[in-house]
Amino acid sequence: MKIVDIESYVLVAPDLRQDATSSSQDNLVVIVRTDEGIYGVGETDTGPYIAKSCIDSPGSHTMAKGMKELLIGMDPMDTSAIWEKLYVYTAMSGRRGAVICAMGAIDMALWDIKGKALNLPVYKLLGGAQKEYIIPYASLQPNGNTVKEYKESLVAWAKKAKEYGYKAAKMECTLDGPYNHSGLKGTDEEMTDIIRACREAVGNDFEMMVDVQYLWYDAHSCLRTIRKWEDLNLFFLETPLRADNLEGYAILAREAPMRIAAGEWLNTRFEFIELMDRGLVHVAQPDVGRVGGLTEAMRVCHLAQDRGRLIVPHCWKTGIGIAATAHMAAAIPHCPFIEYQPAELCESILRKELTPDPLVMKNGKLLLPDKPGLGIELNWDAMKKFTVKT
Ligand SMILES: [Mg+2]
Repeated sequence: MKIVDIESYVLVAPDLRQDATSSSQDNLVVIVRTDEGIYGVGETDTGPYIAKSCIDSPGSHTMAKGMKELLIGMDPMDTSAIWEKLYVYTAMSGRRGAVICAMGAIDMALWDIKGKALNLPVYKLLGGAQKEYIIPYASLQPNGNTVKEYKESLVAWAKKAKEYGYKAAKMECTLDGPYNHSGLKGTDEEMTDIIRACREAVGNDFEMMVDVQYLWYDAHSCLRTIRKWEDLNLFFLETPLRADNLEGYAILAREAPMRIAAGEWLNTRFEFIELMDRGLVHVAQPDVGRVGGLTEAMRVCHLAQDRGRLIVPHCWKTGIGIAATAHMAAAIPHCPFIEYQPAELCESILRKELTPDPLVMKNGKLLLPDKPGLGIELNWDAMKKFTVKT
C-alpha cells in the first residue's frame, strides 16, 4: 500500500469568538489517502492555518522538506519509520511547535489506515487492551460576570456532571492569568471558596481535579494557596505555573498536598522527559495530536510508566481525537481517566457535527471502541460546511 495524497482542511465554527480562550472552535483535519482506496483521518489542536501550511508547503533544501512531498509513495503501515523521516527532514522548521502538531494529525490518520487495513481497532495494534473500560472525566467551565455568578455556575456544573453519571470532573477555576476565559478577575481566597463549594456540592465519593490554567508566576505564591486545599481531596492540580517553569514545577511536585499535572501544550517525548525529570510532575497530560500522534504519545506513555507517573491525556477537539485518545488509554495500565464529554454536553459545533460520538458512556464508563481503525465516521457534509478557504 502506498500514500497517494494528503488533504488538510481548516475548519472554523461559524460563531467563532476570537476573544474566547477555546480551541474547540477550529480544527485542522487531515485525510491521508492510499492507492488501495483506504483513507485515514486525523486532527490536531493548534493554529490550523499554520499547521496546514506545514503540511502543504514545498521544501527548500534537504533539512527543510515539505511534509506532503516526503510522504507521497511511502507505505502507511510504516508509522515509526514515517515519524522519523518527517522529524529528521523537517528539522530546520520543525522539531517542536506547529510542525509536530501537523505530524500528529498525519500520524493519527496513518494509525486509522493501519487498523482499517488489518480490520482491527487501533488499541489492538498498540499492544492490546489492558482494561475493560475507560473512565471519563468532565471538564467544567463556568460562566459569570461576577465571582458570585462564576461560583454558582461551577457548582451547578459539578452537580450536573455527577447526576449525568460521571465519577470524576475537573473544575476549571481561573480567575486570573493568561488563560482567563471571561476576563473576570478574582483573588486566590475567592478561588479557594469556589473549589470548597464544589467539593461540598459533589460530596467525597467523587474524584475532583482542579485546572487553574497557568495562573501563578511562581511556585511559592501557588503553594501559599494550595496548602489550604489539602482537605479537599483533589486528584490533581493542573498547570498551576507557566509551561516552561520546570524548576517551579519541581518545587510544587515536592511540596504540594496533591498530584501536579501538566503537559497539554507539549510537543514530542523530549519535552515530556524534561517535564518529568526536571519538573517532576506526577501526571503527564499528552494531547495525542499535539504531542506528535499516537506513535509519539505511546512513547510518552511508556516513559511515564518507567518513572511511575500517571497519564491523563488532554483532549479538546472532536470525536477524531477522542477516539485516538481512547485507543491509547485502553492500551496502557496507568491512565486512570481521559478527558471526555458527550457531544450533548459540549458547546462546540465542530464537536457536535463532525463525527457521531465514537464512544458510549454508561454508568460513568466508556466501553472500548471496537470498530476497525480509530472507529470513527467523518460527516462529510459537516466537513464541507465548516471548511474555510485558505
Ligand atoms: Mg487545561
